[in-house]
Amino acid sequence: MLVDSHAHLDSPRYASDREAMLQRAWQAGIGTVLSIGIGEGPAEMHQARDLCREFNGRPNLPRLYASAGIYPHNTPEADDTTLAKLDALLSEPEVIACGEVGLDYYHEGAAHDVQRRGLIRQLEISAARKRPILIHCRGTNESTDAWDDLFLVLDEHWAKTGLGGIMHCFGGGWEQARRSLEMGFLVSFAGNLTYPSAQPLREVAARMPLDCILVETDAPWLAPAPDRGKRNEPAFVARTAQVLAETMGKQPDEIAAATTENFQRLFQLH
Ligand SMILES: [Zn+2]
Repeated sequence: MLVDSHAHLDSPRYASDREAMLQRAWQAGIGTVLSIGIGEGPAEMHQARDLCREFNGRPNLPRLYASAGIYPHNTPEADDTTLAKLDALLSEPEVIACGEVGLDYYHEGAAHDVQRRGLIRQLEISAARKRPILIHCRGTNESTDAWDDLFLVLDEHWAKTGLGGIMHCFGGGWEQARRSLEMGFLVSFAGNLTYPSAQPLREVAARMPLDCILVETDAPWLAPAPDRGKRNEPAFVARTAQVLAETMGKQPDEIAAATTENFQRLFQLH
């Protein structure tokens, strides 16, 4: 069985077929999905948790877990009220991670210093709740600016917790991967690994140790080839896992076993 370590199951794009979409995932061999709780903004942070309550226990569906967090461009809303909501969500058993949080300098939006302050406050809350973090990091075009700032923040505010986390939809180079591993993070590969233009990313993936990798969809975005541009869903993570196996020179079974084991170890789900 595979784990989809990052899917936005609360997206309105699944409003008409959410249960059928989860059944397709189960039939494709996806045993677990981490449902990301950022919504369109902090007012919807609880939606991923609600989906766990709605679907867990029904037969022939993946086991759902949830995260909660304030996305980098929503950090202007990271006031005391929304941070208290985040803290309360992270105390619940289904909500195993804080995220996706981080820095996004690629898209226009929240000022960089506002993003950094919002990230730091969420790291403090997550550390107190002993929850690993899910990091979104994207620099300005080819620059490593966001990564450089991210590691400054994590070195000061997170490394000492030993809780680790996931570099979601990894898009950095080997240097960023190496520093992530040093800090106890797992590196998660999404559908963009399958795109023809992603040769540099596949070269990073080829060097990864088996005990540090995950696969994800980031659904409903980033559908793997040949469905690029269409709505993505957890069932499709099997294709990304297949490409990761080819890239690393492993059997698909080994990738499935390693990524599942890594996910369970990080979140202590044994
Ligand atoms: Zn995401």
